[in-house]
Amino acid sequence: MSPLDNDIKFLAGVDERRATLLGKELGVHTLRDLLYHFPRRYIDRSKIYRIGDIRDDGVAWVQFRARIDGLSILGAGHKKRLVAEVSDGSGHAQLVWFQGVDWMMKRLERGREYIVFGKPTIFNGELDIVHPEIESTLAAQEKPGGGMQGVYGSTEKLGAVQLGAKGIYALVCNLWRDFGKFVEEGLPEWFVKANRLMPLREALYNIHFPQSEQMLKAARYRLKFEELLGVQLDVLSHRSGRMARGDGFVMGRVGELFNGFFNERLPFELTGAQKRVVKEIRRDMVSGCQMNRLLQGDVGSGKTLVALMASLLAADNGFQSCLMAPTEILARQHYASVSGMTEGLGFRVAVLTGATRKRERDRILAQLEQGEIDLLIGTHALLEQRVAFANLGFVTIDEQHRFGVEQRARLWTKNRSRPHILVMTATPIPRTLAMTLYGDLDASAIDELPPGRKPIKTIHFREAERLRVFGAMRREIKLGRQAYVVYPLIRESEKMDYQNLYDGFEYISQEFPLPEYHVVALHGKMSGDDKTEVMRMFKEGVAHILVATSVIEVGVDVPNASVMVIESAERFGLSQLHQLRGRVGRGAEQSYCILMSGDKLSREARSRLEAMVETNDGFRLAELDLKLRGAGDITGTQQSGMAIDLKIADLGQDGRIVEAARAAAMGILEADPLLASPENLLLRQLRERYSNRTEEIDFSQIS
Ligand code: ADP
Ligand code: MG
Repeated sequence: MSPLDNDIKFLAGVDERRATLLGKELGVHTLRDLLYHFPRRYIDRSKIYRIGDIRDDGVAWVQFRARIDGLSILGAGHKKRLVAEVSDGSGHAQLVWFQGVDWMMKRLERGREYIVFGKPTIFNGELDIVHPEIESTLAAQEKPGGGMQGVYGSTEKLGAVQLGAKGIYALVCNLWRDFGKFVEEGLPEWFVKANRLMPLREALYNIHFPQSEQMLKAARYRLKFEELLGVQLDVLSHRSGRMARGDGFVMGRVGELFNGFFNERLPFELTGAQKRVVKEIRRDMVSGCQMNRLLQGDVGSGKTLVALMASLLAADNGFQSCLMAPTEILARQHYASVSGMTEGLGFRVAVLTGATRKRERDRILAQLEQGEIDLLIGTHALLEQRVAFANLGFVTIDEQHRFGVEQRARLWTKNRSRPHILVMTATPIPRTLAMTLYGDLDASAIDELPPGRKPIKTIHFREAERLRVFGAMRREIKLGRQAYVVYPLIRESEKMDYQNLYDGFEYISQEFPLPEYHVVALHGKMSGDDKTEVMRMFKEGVAHILVATSVIEVGVDVPNASVMVIESAERFGLSQLHQLRGRVGRGAEQSYCILMSGDKLSREARSRLEAMVETNDGFRLAELDLKLRGAGDITGTQQSGMAIDLKIADLGQDGRIVEAARAAAMGILEADPLLASPENLLLRQLRERYSNRTEEIDFSQIS
């Protein structure tokens, strides 16, 4: 064991109380944990503000040199506070402490000069800093490093024990002074050389105490590379393990069902991209290895059709399939279109959702166990224990981001061996994210829309232009088309959201009155029957306008609808906007997506709306979304059910390092699949350190 694995309480400056808080607040339990608690950013320590120049509330942190003119304790009880009046010749400021009042009082000295560091607030023209970090100018000169000083993430509770950003910095200084010599290289020497990486000790030193911009850059690269290499070694090992097991169902026959459908039923020519993907899937199905394939393609690109063809192949080989959709509406819609297209072929399809009545459900379950159903379509109701297949061989999961991984895992347990799995998503996953999160899946993409579709025109309007929007809707309705109006649904305040929707519904109903117009509303809280009825009315064209929350994001297919109005569009994420837009443009007519927003927009919201207007390319939007929001937000959502916890690499920025690390990992594993050779010992340990991070998406371990 390395001395670095010791408890953090052995560090100078850390007592029991601070140790406990460091663990709780930052997950820092050992010395090594602190060593890997990297600065969030750096401030130029040579930059000393003049108090008189700090007039902008927008500045996050300032540092100035000032003398204490007055020190006093005011108030009592929980209002007790220490106030220090300081000045630097250019102006005055007030420093305030509410916690540790007596302790601070003893530490500070009137008439002495200090370096003050903190978040300024300006109130009535007065500059205040609450709980600043403060140190004597003498102490400030003893710190290591060049001109840049790390600003460390901290929390309010840590701040209360003098472990704010600068307090942590001081601990890191102690850590390096006493334990820096124990840092050992974590990668094989040949590897460090071959990839021209900065040695670990140098990298860790420079990430905390950059000697120069250039050294910092090299340090970052090294640490990011190592982190991403760990992830890649892990995911790629899973993939090679799956291949090596060779226990995939073999489905070599192309039989009557597939041929009958392909030759007689397919109402159109497949696109080139669809043909390619069908080929890729067929290749997997005869390979003897279990398929784990991710299929990406924009809304309407024809993914479902590809999944259906694979299910027909499975049936030709005596295997059952299932198709799991994220919502009731979508499941029923898939069922309607699949049973329509395959009617009379002898392909037995059924649908099972939470709303399926008991008698019907019992019948379906019995048939399923007898092998009398070839394809079962449904929602997560398919995952229930009592849903037992006779011989499940192929699973399609539609819109994967809606399902937790836990849920998916249960499907694999429904046969003696793992079925082939096709995970479909219309939310394009940026390449770097896919390689990291789905690194053990093979990827296919349908990057071509069926012919004859006109690109959707997207326009951004402000409230003042609403009448023009209504005018456009009337025109389209007169031409026989239909429109959606969507209101945002934000989980935290459901009540208010539904109020939005109801108000909107009333408003739209007044603008588009009966008998000329028929407006209906749809939202997630309605009963299944009501939803079905509303959808039927819209689908059959009885209703002209569907007012809805974002429940329609996934899965509504009404080719006659040509207008999508998105209210408060600034409140939607980019991928959600793109999904919603995909609800129109499914027919041959020109379609429109209208983004309504308020006048005041944050810079980020503006970028989102501009991007929507500019492009229909889902992959480009996904890349941009990743850049705007960062990987944490995309993958950290409840619905994604995925964990990714990278300390330093940023999937939005570090695409090239991901590629380099993946290539390196592939090369290593090719030569030494188990990382068994002695010179790869450090790599094996690295992989093991990362193996629990991706456990949740470890498809190969689930059976
Ligand atoms: P996705 O699941 O990718 O959203 P679907 O499979 O639901 O797309 O297809 C969208 C629509 O396009 C459906 O009405 C489908 O019948 C139709 N479609 C699919 N492939 C083609 C094609 N090659 N040519 C014409 N229309 C197609
Ligand atoms: Mg679909």
